[in-house]
Amino acid sequence: MTALLTVDALCKAFGAYQALDRVSLEIGQAEFIALLGPSGCGKTTLLRAIAGFLQPDSGRIAIDGQDVTALPPNKRPLNTVFQNYALFPHMTVLENVAYGPRRQGASRDEAKRRALEALDMVGLAALGERYPREMSGGQQQRVALARAIVNRPRLLLLDEPLSALDMKLRKRMQIELKHLQQQLGIAFVFVTHDQEEAMAMADRIVVMNAGRIEQCGAGTEIYRAPSSRFVAEFIGDANLLPWESAGSGYIRLSMQGEQLPVTSVNGTARGLAVLRPEHLSVARADAPGGLDGTLVDVISVGSHTMLHANVGGQTLVVRTMGLPDATLERGKPIRLAFDPANLHLIGDAA
Ligand code: ATP
Repeated sequence: MTALLTVDALCKAFGAYQALDRVSLEIGQAEFIALLGPSGCGKTTLLRAIAGFLQPDSGRIAIDGQDVTALPPNKRPLNTVFQNYALFPHMTVLENVAYGPRRQGASRDEAKRRALEALDMVGLAALGERYPREMSGGQQQRVALARAIVNRPRLLLLDEPLSALDMKLRKRMQIELKHLQQQLGIAFVFVTHDQEEAMAMADRIVVMNAGRIEQCGAGTEIYRAPSSRFVAEFIGDANLLPWESAGSGYIRLSMQGEQLPVTSVNGTARGLAVLRPEHLSVARADAPGGLDGTLVDVISVGSHTMLHANVGGQTLVVRTMGLPDATLERGKPIRLAFDPANLHLIGDAA
């Protein structure tokens, strides 16, 4: 299948700062992509370049095989939802949504019909006569969405569209947006710095760092097999355990003497092993092959408990389901167990 969007070696500098550094990316028809990364990594710059609000220094952007790099935003088959919604305050909700089709030459009746259809898709058909100021934050967000989808673009770009909403509403809107995207069958490129949001919504996540793409893949794949320390630490919690090769198919963790079998060492002699907190558990004191340390903290959030343990000077995080075991006491020795199959090795350079 041909890609809907192709971004090829895109570069953009602001003065001496390289905001986009040879960014290449392909997005499929009706794919939901999240651009994820810390503040300043270039997410918005990439989105604005795709939208046409910003001219790249070099590189190429194509939609459905057509080079759009030099086209202005309104000539590209896409639409953008901004963080602040950018609704017209003096127009009713219906007029806000009908504005796009009217500008594109639709008759008043046709524009109204399409606006009502778009409002219906976001569950606001009954509130078309209200003004934006009479709507809640979540409703305004839906109006902004209706306005963006009314012209049925091939591609919708969304710049942190849920950031102004409180946590509960934000979680609900994440699910609504995902359903809407599937219903419409159009591709979404969604900017966020919230990894849970990206994991919950996107088919693929593009992790960015300092103007570059660090890794691109399904959320579960990125979580399970991060390509670098940066990705491992940015997506979820990670224990990073230094290791050295101990012969073919084996490694030795610096905090433990034992040889551990691993599937791939990738020819590197040392590096870091990523071990997720849920892959560590509390073992009996006489259990073989554990990591010995001291319990530093027990933090329960109801559904699960996080334990912090000092093992050889490094704090390891353990996640257990449910409430903490009553026998766990701060300052007491603790032995942690893990299955070596859950160690994900990253090399020295990563
Ligand atoms: P955030 O999550 O904070 O919005 P971001 O990943 O979207 O961050 P960008 O807005 O793409 O980051 O900015 C990338 C870098 O480029 C930042 O260091 C920013 O300060 C810089 N930058 C962005 N726009 C401009 C501009 N018009 N002039 C100068 N520097 C800019």
